[in-house]
Amino acid sequence: MTDITAKLSRLIAAMGPISMAQYMAESNAAYYASRDPLGVNGDFITAPEISQMFGEMVGVWCADIWARAGRPTPVHFAEYGPGRGTLARDALRVMARFGLHPHLHLVETSPVLRVTQQTLLAPITQNLFWHDDPSTLPQDGPMLIVANEFLDALPIRQIVQTEAGWRERLVGLDGLRLVPISGDKPMEATIPETMRNAPLGAIIETCPAATAVVDDVARRLAVQGGAALFMDYGYVDAQLGSSLQAVKAHQKADPFVAAGTADLTALVDFGILAEVAMRGGTKWLGTAEQGAWLHIMGIAERATALIKKSPEQASAIGAALARLTGANAMGSLFKIMGLAAPQWPDGAGFDL
Ligand code: SAH
Repeated sequence: MTDITAKLSRLIAAMGPISMAQYMAESNAAYYASRDPLGVNGDFITAPEISQMFGEMVGVWCADIWARAGRPTPVHFAEYGPGRGTLARDALRVMARFGLHPHLHLVETSPVLRVTQQTLLAPITQNLFWHDDPSTLPQDGPMLIVANEFLDALPIRQIVQTEAGWRERLVGLDGLRLVPISGDKPMEATIPETMRNAPLGAIIETCPAATAVVDDVARRLAVQGGAALFMDYGYVDAQLGSSLQAVKAHQKADPFVAAGTADLTALVDFGILAEVAMRGGTKWLGTAEQGAWLHIMGIAERATALIKKSPEQASAIGAALARLTGANAMGSLFKIMGLAAPQWPDGAGFDL
């Protein structure tokens, strides 16, 4: 039993079941605080770790919209959940080529990953700052904000249709095991009219933490100017069912076993986030499939150029391109949502 499982079990034994959100938040906080989960020897691999081309396309997008906005300075580049710092490194290198030298702000809670980020990024920029959460980000200029596989790690809530009606899905104890159970408080009032009669077992997922992040970004852009990209796996049209999953050593694992030793994630509801962004006073540029967006940004041309420079790398570069853009790989399941301040131009990649 892990420390965090033991702690949550004691808590549940004493106080009763906890929400799925609390379970996910505590598991992931323990998980990220204790390791670098990325890469072949870790638990999962992300787009910027697959190839430098991913971060480069993000850098091109930022430089392009910044140039069209009239090259304002000072300007800040903020990344939420930057992992090893690879995306920021690749994006900064490209932005510099366009004359864009933003201050770099990393929103990161994990002390282990902060060390990795420092090692990678301190040599390339002097203006490097860490934040525990977005509330301390600067307010003195436009922001270019990016987040890849950040929202999917934020805690979700689930509501399930039971014989007794809609109930919150909680985490309880069955002997020594943590298990999902239904709470006893009626939740009908939180269910949209159109979904009230969903079949038994139907699950509605919400992620209040993700909506809060996007709401804050939207309000910030409206006041300070700037633009944002949220990249994650998720869906645009509302769907029913639990998307909670655990990934350990590149395999799916039981999300209720070994809390704190596997990455807990859920699909991102991009439909609701677009609404939240617009309500917050910012422009929603679109939500594109990752493959389509990367192609518009010129990833195929970039791959060709890289292969020309290093012909011995041709098959590795081709494989990375296919993985990032292929419909049966990350190309369709992953989405990229673009936002821009009302007074900013529309940016590239979303006029599909
Ligand atoms: N963006 C990186 C890493 C994705 S992993 C990449 O694409 O490779 C998720 C990242 O979000 C990690 O850096 C993790 O430490 C961070 N993270 C998770 N929950 C967080 C939270 N609540 N606040 C801040 N950072 C968080």
